[in-house]
Amino acid sequence: MPRHMHQPRRLGRWVGPLVTVLAVALVATGIWWFTSTLPDNGGTANPPATAPSSAAASVTPSGVSTEGPTASATASPSDVPASSAPSTAPATNPATGRVDTLGGLVPDYVLPPIVDGLAPVLTKVPTEQKVVFLTIDDGAVKRDSDLALLEANGIKASLFLANNFVAGDPRFYKKYTAAGHLIENHTMSHNLGFINLSYEDQKAEICGMADFEEQQYGRRPVFFRPPGGPYTLATRQAVAACGLKAIVDWETKANAGNMDYQVGAGLRPGDIVLMHFRPEFPQDLAAFMAAQKAAGLKVVLLEDYLATK
Ligand SMILES: [Zn+2]
Repeated sequence: MPRHMHQPRRLGRWVGPLVTVLAVALVATGIWWFTSTLPDNGGTANPPATAPSSAAASVTPSGVSTEGPTASATASPSDVPASSAPSTAPATNPATGRVDTLGGLVPDYVLPPIVDGLAPVLTKVPTEQKVVFLTIDDGAVKRDSDLALLEANGIKASLFLANNFVAGDPRFYKKYTAAGHLIENHTMSHNLGFINLSYEDQKAEICGMADFEEQQYGRRPVFFRPPGGPYTLATRQAVAACGLKAIVDWETKANAGNMDYQVGAGLRPGDIVLMHFRPEFPQDLAAFMAAQKAAGLKVVLLEDYLATK
C-alpha cells in the first residue's frame, strides 16, 4: 500500500531528512520575510489576514495616501513602536487622515452642514464629553519658546492667523504645523470693522487668506474667525463661498494671565477657548491649563472632534 515508501529504497535514507531540512528552511525564510517587511508598513505586500492585530490597527486605511506631506508625517510614528506599543499605537483617523488627538474618544456631536449657502456658527461645541478646545489667534508674537510650552504639555491648538500679522515671516508657523497644530483663517487684514465691509470685500478677505494658507502650509483652512468675533449673514455666506465649513467664535478667553468666562465661573465640556500670540502667552497658557485640569477636561483639536480635514 504505501508504494512511495518502497519505491526509492536506495534514496529513502536521504529523501526524508532532505525534505525536512528544506521545509524548515522554507518556513524560516517565510517568517524572516514576514517579520522584516511588517514594520516597514508598505501597506502593499502584507497579507492583512495573517497580520497580528496590533499591526493591523496601525496600518492606515486607504484615504491617507492622497495627502503627500501628512502621509509621510503620520507614517513615521506607526513605524517605530511596532514591537513596543502593542495595541495603544496611535491610529490614523480615516475621516481626517491624521493621527488625531481624540485618543479613541468617539464624538457625540456632528458639525451641521452648510444650508442655503450659509456656514454654521459655533461659539461652543454642544457636548457632554469632557473635552475642551484651545484656539490661538493673530500670530503677532512669534517665539519658539511658546511652541515648546505647548509641546511640553502635550497640547495641540487651532491657530487662527491673520495675514497682516504673519506676512513678514509666514514660514515661522510651519514649525507649528510640523508639530501637529492646525492653521485656520482669521482674514487678510484683521479689519475690526469687518462686518461693515461689503459681501465681496469680506469674501476677498476670507478667500485670500484661505488661498495664502493653503499655499504656505499645504492645507486649506476649514474654519473662520472674524476679527473681534462679530459676523453677519454676509460673513456666513462668504465663508461658505470660500469653501470653509464653519465660523468659530468663543465663550471663554485666556487673557492677561486669567480666565474670562462669558458664562459661569469655570470651563465646561465643549468650551472653545480664545488665546493670542502675545507677550503674556506663558501666563495665559498656565491659566488655561489650571482651569482645564480643575474641570477635568481633555484638550483635543477642534478639527479632530468635528472630523474636518
Ligand atoms: Zn484677532
